[in-house]
Amino acid sequence: MIQDMNKARALALDDQRLARRHSLTAVAISLLHTMICLFYFQGGYFVVSGLVLALLFVGIWTGNLLLASWVVSGRSAHYRDPSVSLPWNLWLTLGFLASAWCMNEFRISVMMLFFAAMLLASFRQSLPGLLALSSVGMFGYLLVVITAWQTRSISMNLTVELLQWLVFCMAAISLVVTGVGINALRTSLTAKNRQLSDALVQVRDMAIRDELTGLFNRRHIMEVLNQQQALADSGDYTFSLCFVDLDYFKRINDRFGHAAGDQVLRRFAALSGRCLREADYTGRLGGEEFVLVLTQSDLDSAVRVAERLRRAVAVEDFSDLDDALSATISIGIAQYRSGELLSATLARADRCLYQAKLSGRDQVVTERVLEHPEQILAPE
Ligand code: GH3
Ligand code: MG
Ligand code: MG
Repeated sequence: MIQDMNKARALALDDQRLARRHSLTAVAISLLHTMICLFYFQGGYFVVSGLVLALLFVGIWTGNLLLASWVVSGRSAHYRDPSVSLPWNLWLTLGFLASAWCMNEFRISVMMLFFAAMLLASFRQSLPGLLALSSVGMFGYLLVVITAWQTRSISMNLTVELLQWLVFCMAAISLVVTGVGINALRTSLTAKNRQLSDALVQVRDMAIRDELTGLFNRRHIMEVLNQQQALADSGDYTFSLCFVDLDYFKRINDRFGHAAGDQVLRRFAALSGRCLREADYTGRLGGEEFVLVLTQSDLDSAVRVAERLRRAVAVEDFSDLDDALSATISIGIAQYRSGELLSATLARADRCLYQAKLSGRDQVVTERVLEHPEQILAPE
């Protein structure tokens, strides 16, 4: 569950990074557009006044800033496309069309930037989005030519303008085809990346978990213990560890079969998951022997958890496996003493478990009880 959440968080961060990069590129294209228009304005290729052009660019940049802040603030993060690439590229295209309308027959030169917007869109959009964008570009350009011709027919060569428009349409259509290819490639790469990261999670899980019970294996539990030891040695922190052994498990196997024995081991794993806190660890050392690492727990709180688990196993209903089947566990607990070797803690817990077996099984024995054997209680 925690791994799934981490994965989802990593994917969301990845999407957000891509969205920001998309916005940055869109802003760069718009900046290029502004500079080209300024250059052409200086050269006298615009048919509108400087004031009209200034107002046009105030409008364009207001839209750019709104879109950029939408993406950068993360408000678009929960959309299917956090880059809002379709609105972004449509806005860029409207800017190109408006400035093209304000120009004379050199308008095709600003419309060329439309292909940069198409290319950018093909990284995020599939066929419908690309078709919508190219339609706006092509029909918008035609509208610009027709309305410009209606208002300034004297200074325009309609045939040349329409021929330029045709060339523009052909280039736009070929970009739609290329864009669909780019998009398919990107989609399959994303899917492959996800499969790969799923496989990595699985491999990692296999390396740290026991196959039968799904509990941590001995190697991982030793890593956890080393981390706990480092924490305890560096400050005001303590932890306890419990050795757990199923009582007379061989008899269960002999009487009810190995498969039923396996089910009992799995059931124990499920019960330990329910009785322990999220922060604790249960590992299978091998056979019917387990270890619990109870983080931030002294002996008293460890006893409470161990007792809870002992009782849960003792009252567990195994009638689905066999009416006569029941199971109990014995537990030995030791609290880590700052500065000692882990093998010393493990040895103490093992001695406690041995004592629990000697005293009749189905019970919890702590090192404190070991030091005062008169405190050992008979099982309930
Ligand atoms: P005690 O109360 O003293 O612990 O007695 P016990 O019978 O539980 O202990 P013993 O060590 O004599 O027997 C453990 C048994 O666990 C023997 C072995 O066949 C069985 N066992 C070990 N691994 C597995 C397993 O993965 N599945 C099953 N079903 N049985 C297993
Ligand atoms: Mg046993
Ligand atoms: Mg054993």
